[in-house]
Amino acid sequence: MKVSVVKETAPGERRVALVPEAAAKLRSAGLEVLVQSGAGDGAWHTDDSYAEAGATVVSRADALAADVVLMVGKPDTAAVSVLRPGQVVIGLLAPLTDPDLTAALAAAGVTAVSMDMIPRTLPRAQPMDALSSQANIAGYKAALLGATQFGRFFPLLITAAGTARPAKVLVLGTGVAGLQAIGTARRLGALVSAYDVRPETRTEAESVGATFIELTSVGPASGEGGYARALTEDERTAQQEELAGHIARHDVVITTAQVPGRRPPLLVTEDALKSMTPGSVVVDMGASILGGNVAGSVPGETVLTENGVAIVGASGLPSSMAAAASAMYARNISSLLLYLISDGALALNREDELQSGVIITSGGAIVHPALTDAASKPQPAPADQPSDQPPDQPDEGATRAVPGSSR
Ligand code: NAD
Repeated sequence: MKVSVVKETAPGERRVALVPEAAAKLRSAGLEVLVQSGAGDGAWHTDDSYAEAGATVVSRADALAADVVLMVGKPDTAAVSVLRPGQVVIGLLAPLTDPDLTAALAAAGVTAVSMDMIPRTLPRAQPMDALSSQANIAGYKAALLGATQFGRFFPLLITAAGTARPAKVLVLGTGVAGLQAIGTARRLGALVSAYDVRPETRTEAESVGATFIELTSVGPASGEGGYARALTEDERTAQQEELAGHIARHDVVITTAQVPGRRPPLLVTEDALKSMTPGSVVVDMGASILGGNVAGSVPGETVLTENGVAIVGASGLPSSMAAAASAMYARNISSLLLYLISDGALALNREDELQSGVIITSGGAIVHPALTDAASKPQPAPADQPSDQPPDQPDEGATRAVPGSSR
């Protein structure tokens, strides 16, 4: 069976789905591994290093013709147009936010396997959990960006030239990325506080060295499957106002809050930014074209407010550490691929909980329950829509289900 790796085409994407070590592992499992020439360049893996690992370096057309095509992100339109029925495509396909791609893959007759739909709490799925591996990298890098943008020290420094007090860092959202950001900022010597709308994250945040902040104006907002639910408009306003007081007392704020299938909730408002001291830094890991956790953040750019606060629009962080991110992703995707294979051939079985969690299209149809349920449900009336966004914005995820909610 031929398994291929294609070069990523998304702008700025440097990661590659398999590193040579993972290619060798798949070879030793009896698979023929094809690698598009140049696929590993962004992560510093040459064509020669793949060839030494037993892979065959091929053209993009040949890579796209393999039985199983591995990628980090999504196939572009040109790639989808050459896929044939029965081929398997595995990547972070984002079906909750890109239903058009899911529909196109179904129409192409492709079996699409989405790494971001892995039921993360299944113990056997943990080596395949690419959302966690990439979030870990993003959280680490977000803390480093905060430290390098900040014009003072993170640690307490006592020198002959004077004493520098430790920076006060606030991490908003303590999922996988937030916990890594806390740990990294702590290791750099900062005093770290943290907040999440799911109170059960308190123990984890404290265990990596943060002081957990509780808000009195917003109750717990744990949703399905271990994720947060979207807040109501009243809760959102109360949260923003109470958080503003805490934000004003910190030098560096790192935001990582997400609600699956929706635009990120706004946590740091313009008023909160105005209350910060000049020279403060806000790193918005949720920055996206749909908006982020921070008012005025621009993905990929650092914006300076009138009162001298730097807002770092920290998008694409895993790609900025392409070597580490690719190594981890390669382990995730090869674990999943080997799970889907028996005796050198694909053994797809949607009765299996893990497989039914990740297979989104098959036999010309969309088959994932979270996607078919969402499509069959009527759109909620505007007044019923959870309002974590302004009314003039489409609610991206109003009818979408939560990944892994079947777990
Ligand atoms: P995520 O990226 O979806 O969200 C990041 C954090 O933002 C979450 O902690 C969420 O509660 C928080 N958040 C959302 N809205 C907020 C708001 N308005 N204000 C403040 N915080 C807000 O989360 P994730 O890192 O993907 O983790 C999601 C869940 O999956 C967690 O419960 C995590 O423990 C769980 N998980 C479990 C496993 C496992 O069991 N092996 C592996 C990975 C993750």
